[in-house]
Amino acid sequence: MGRAATATINLDAIRHNYRLAKSLSNGQKAVAIIKADAYGHDAVVVANALSAQADAFGVACIEEAIELREAGIKNPILLLEGFFKADELILIAQYNLWTALHSVSQIEDIKNSPLKNSINVWLKMDSGMHRLGIAPEDYQDAYQQLNALPQVKEVILMSHFSSADDLSAGTTQEQINCFDAFTTGINAHVSLANSAATLGHEEARRQWQRPGIMLYGATPFEQSHPQGDKLRSAMTLSSEVIAIHQLQAGDAVGYSRTFICEKPTLVGTVAMGYADGYPRHAKSGTPILVNGQRTRILGRVSMDMLAVDLSHLEDVNVGAYVECWGENLTAAEVAPHCDTIPYTLFTGITRRVHKVYCDDRQLLKQVG
Ligand SMILES: *Cc1c(COP(=O)(O)O)cnc(C)c1O
Repeated sequence: MGRAATATINLDAIRHNYRLAKSLSNGQKAVAIIKADAYGHDAVVVANALSAQADAFGVACIEEAIELREAGIKNPILLLEGFFKADELILIAQYNLWTALHSVSQIEDIKNSPLKNSINVWLKMDSGMHRLGIAPEDYQDAYQQLNALPQVKEVILMSHFSSADDLSAGTTQEQINCFDAFTTGINAHVSLANSAATLGHEEARRQWQRPGIMLYGATPFEQSHPQGDKLRSAMTLSSEVIAIHQLQAGDAVGYSRTFICEKPTLVGTVAMGYADGYPRHAKSGTPILVNGQRTRILGRVSMDMLAVDLSHLEDVNVGAYVECWGENLTAAEVAPHCDTIPYTLFTGITRRVHKVYCDDRQLLKQVG
């Protein structure tokens, strides 16, 4: 291996986090959300790692579902965004998928489809996020229509929260109240909770949870939280120091000279840049670990490199191990320094980064 930029993914951490989602809901079911290539962790690898435990997997679109089926994944798979065109219903039946349904016109699509196998449909209500879903007033009627179709096996009732990561917001409870009010009398299983609600809102935990980001070990909360703090980071993004320079007061570091040394500064250059997925928006001062010691990045992140302050560190030479985020520095701590959230850090990892999979005891395999 030449360039050291590596994402090491611990599959035991993902299994631990899935078990936490299940245990919080007293063993109710959980769809492990592995859309967007399992938030950058590799959907097929993560699905295989969870296949013995997972009640179902959730993906964004049919291409993602077919990739899993072709890799031999047998667990139920839910299309979270539903189908985009009516002709996808043939594939949904062929690959034995579950689909969300978010508009009344899609009921007609199912009614008019030649489906022979009856499918499970997750009927989505817009309880206040105003992104996808059927209006609360139309929901009972949509449920009755759908439930009467021979093409439909089971209808699961579903909604999604806008602000479950903000524990002080009252809007999660308002959305729950809206959902409950407009579904009274329907006897069906319910799915409301994403990661933040699974961890932080007991009233949102129903028959099916939908944990995504928590599987990868990032807490959705800004502050310390008794459940959020039990998560284990799955991905460690690492690289190496490839050069060291002693700079003097007044010397500049990196493109556009945005960082000027105030005093003599020992600067390390790390083989990690925005073309690897380390965000260019990271500000000077973003935390990073070198040989396990905490320090900060300096100046602009380049395409292939970034600079770190080594001044106060011990025993750092060329080749020193650099952890950008992961086991010892969480993505949730790094993200705000880059004006973003762990979701974009994980999904932004590019093909150039070596992916290495391990469990708690060993290195399992290296990809790339
Ligand atoms: C992505 C997604 C989730 C998972 O959200 P997290 O915040 O990552 O837990 C749950 N439900 C739906 C509908 C989604 O699209």
